Amino acid sequence: MTGTNDNRPDFRQMIEDSKRHDFNMVLVYKFDRFSRNKYEATKHKKTLKDNGVRVVSVTEYMPDSPEAIILESVLEGYAEYYSAELSQKVKRGMNETRLKGNFTGGFIMYGYKVVNHKLVIDEEQAEVVRFIYEQYAQGIFVKDIIKSLTERGIYNRGKKFANNTVYNILRNEKYSGVYRFNGEVFTNIYPQIVPIDIYKIVRQKCELNKYGKRSVEVVYLLRNKIKCGYCGSTINAECGTAKNGQKVRYYKCLGRKHKNGCTKSQVRKEILEKYVLDNVIEQMSKPKTVEKVAEYLLQVQENRINQNSALANLIKEKRQTENAINNIMDVIEQGRQSLTIVKRMRELESKLTDIEKRLAIEKSKTAFRLTKEQIIEYYKTALEKEPLLLINQFIKEIQLYDDKMIIIYNTPNPINLDESQVFSFYDKNVKMPYTTQSKKHYGLKDFRLVMRLQ
Ligand SMILES: [Zn+2]
Repeated sequence: MTGTNDNRPDFRQMIEDSKRHDFNMVLVYKFDRFSRNKYEATKHKKTLKDNGVRVVSVTEYMPDSPEAIILESVLEGYAEYYSAELSQKVKRGMNETRLKGNFTGGFIMYGYKVVNHKLVIDEEQAEVVRFIYEQYAQGIFVKDIIKSLTERGIYNRGKKFANNTVYNILRNEKYSGVYRFNGEVFTNIYPQIVPIDIYKIVRQKCELNKYGKRSVEVVYLLRNKIKCGYCGSTINAECGTAKNGQKVRYYKCLGRKHKNGCTKSQVRKEILEKYVLDNVIEQMSKPKTVEKVAEYLLQVQENRINQNSALANLIKEKRQTENAINNIMDVIEQGRQSLTIVKRMRELESKLTDIEKRLAIEKSKTAFRLTKEQIIEYYKTALEKEPLLLINQFIKEIQLYDDKMIIIYNTPNPINLDESQVFSFYDKNVKMPYTTQSKKHYGLKDFRLVMRLQ
């Protein structure tokens, strides 16, 4: 299935299975087959990594080292770009189909069928759609609508209507004959099933109920990285509900939670993460550091290409095989043929095919070469856009106190941080819009930050 999103059942199953530690590697043809969306790729790779599973691309070789992660996400960036461009092209073609009023393919909505490339109303199902709309407009609950459908023996593909199916029907503007796509409105594609006034009433009710508002998966950037500075316990991410019903997320000392006597106060997720990120980015984007990182990555890349002895060996092996084949050809041309020669010839030919395959793989490993500018360019964006990568990559551990935080870096070699820098929480670009009282509440009174190398 397409790699543009992670809504692929088998893919999800694979992520799920990784929890059982039955395997330790996911092999993909190219990284863009894993996911064409960088955010999702990062998220899933993190899950896999937590479960001890690596994602390896057959055609885009990556050494298993920290800097490889940066190179790897460059490739992912390209995949995302490629995917966006491709879908542009497909959209252009589809738009022409739409202008003609033809069905562009894909899932056929309940209530319609396709006849001669056009959508037409399936009267039997359309009757059900109208019934659902009318009932809901009268204020009848979805579960009761389903009940009466079932009582009347009306099923969806042999099964009782699911809540979600009914809500999806209720939310779908196409039933009113209107199809919006890319800012354009098409009224020539979906024949109207539900009168517009009923559709509007239902729409209002749906919005009031706010049903189906997609819950966003929350990523705790610092998970598995923070320790309590006082008692050494893990600091865990937790979600609570404030008095006004809003969800509030904290990082909380596990020791204190289990009443070991620790008094470390909890810290609001957003604030702590922003603070850590701002400072890591600041450290890592100092011109000197950027320069060093780029040079280092460039060197890594060169070594990777130059040390590709497998490629050299294959080229040699290919030449030898070709020579052997030519020699046999000479023999055959001289009119001497025997079963042995024919057999030998076949062996050599099959060997040559095999070598060529392996050669193609080795060549593709070296085909990808980034310039220093590209590395710098990417590195800078990565700092801003990929906090998860960044933190996994550079931070070994964070020790959190009420008044200070010690960040222990995991830096690849020639990157030097200014050692033992102490930052006051309130200086420079980190401006926190909180009063003294709330600072105390968030566990951030008189905060200082200590940066330290491993
Ligand atoms: Zn503690």
